[in-house]
Amino acid sequence: MLVVQKYGGTSVGDLERIRNVARRIARYKEEGHDVVVVVSAMAGETDRLLNLAHELVEEPSPRELDMLVATGEQVSSALLAMALNAMGYPAKALVAFQIPIKTDELFGKARIRDIATDRMLEELKKGYILIIAGFQGITEGGDITTLGRGGSDTTAVAIAAALGADVCEIFTDVDGVYTADPRIVPKARKIKRISYDEMLELASMGAKVLEIRSVEFAKIYKVPVHVRSSFSDEPGTMVVEEDETMEKVLVSGVTYNRNEARISLYGVPDRPGVAAQIFGPIAEAGIVVDMIIQTGRPDGRADMTFTVPKTDFKKTLRLVEGLAEKLGLEKIEGAEEIAKVSIVGAGMRAHPGVAAKMFEVLAQHGINIHMISTSEIKISCVIDEKYTELAVRALHEAFGLDREPEEE
Ligand code: ADP
Ligand code: ASP
Ligand code: MG
Repeated sequence: MLVVQKYGGTSVGDLERIRNVARRIARYKEEGHDVVVVVSAMAGETDRLLNLAHELVEEPSPRELDMLVATGEQVSSALLAMALNAMGYPAKALVAFQIPIKTDELFGKARIRDIATDRMLEELKKGYILIIAGFQGITEGGDITTLGRGGSDTTAVAIAAALGADVCEIFTDVDGVYTADPRIVPKARKIKRISYDEMLELASMGAKVLEIRSVEFAKIYKVPVHVRSSFSDEPGTMVVEEDETMEKVLVSGVTYNRNEARISLYGVPDRPGVAAQIFGPIAEAGIVVDMIIQTGRPDGRADMTFTVPKTDFKKTLRLVEGLAEKLGLEKIEGAEEIAKVSIVGAGMRAHPGVAAKMFEVLAQHGINIHMISTSEIKISCVIDEKYTELAVRALHEAFGLDREPEEE
């Protein structure tokens, strides 16, 4: 069997943990499997590097920032390979340019374009365990890029897809995907099997246990993903295609995302082409706009509110401020102290009334809803950030997620 494994930052957080991970990998090798491992930087390292840069200058240049933060994974991959070698298991650490893992030029959130497999297959054939630095890539021109926070998950699933691995195991500090972040909701339950689509919604709505692009890759290339703990041997959560044996529940999870900010534009001219004029430059800057609400006004103008990642807040404000005069906007304002809470579940497709119940639960707790958005299998509300935990716990309980679902 060919197994791709990914170990997150906490799992390689210190030398003792790196030794433990090496022992686990050695076990797979002993069982006769080929193993390709993807590692994150040691816990806290990426944040440390980012802080260094931001202490030095307010807005570090994106290219140099990637040069800097990509080093975290080079360190952990080299250390893990050394640990394996010392245990008598030949291992080689590789960074992106050596494979290569090619990406586009969007520094800080680059997308993988192509992964060459020749070098990896050659080394596997020679009997090496491969330890690959996650999170990073290389552009056509030879510059180092990174894939965005949590991007090592994406490296792992993309490599599993490229190599046609039998499974991609994501080893992390929780033992699976839960009905809500177990750190916020102590009563959250582990989900045994979940479909790519539901996992995609959970990930995009903030469940950071899997990075969203990694789930997209898994879905497209049908890579079975096993999310499990690096501290135990318990089976975790299988992320697979939807099938009959899945839990038949209305709502499968509650998520939150604090990394959003709101921007409101007042007095937007109500004529064709204006929205394109506003959102075109934002998209060109690689900023992902999430919710958009436009309200018409009796005076023929409109007010528009939208959300962007908190990390892109200032940049987006600057972009729209640049348009203010041209469009004759009355006012621009924004807020960073917001959060998005969402409920996700394939069962919602067939059941009306789920949204109404969500609004009711939030109202009962005195939580005001600023924005709402829905899809076939999720409902999201933007609320004040300070109510995040209260909202997540209340929704988790109200939709009965504390209880075991009935077996069908
Ligand atoms: P790693 O460093 O291994 O990539 P992450 O911190 O990125 O780990 O992701 C694991 C964390 O995701 C958990 O510690 C947990 O707090 C959080 N999390 C958020 N939502 C969920 C969920 N629904 N199920 C499991 N974990 C979740
Ligand atoms: N080290 C990177 C981060 O902290 C990538 C990852 O851990 O997946 O975001
Ligand atoms: Mg992660």
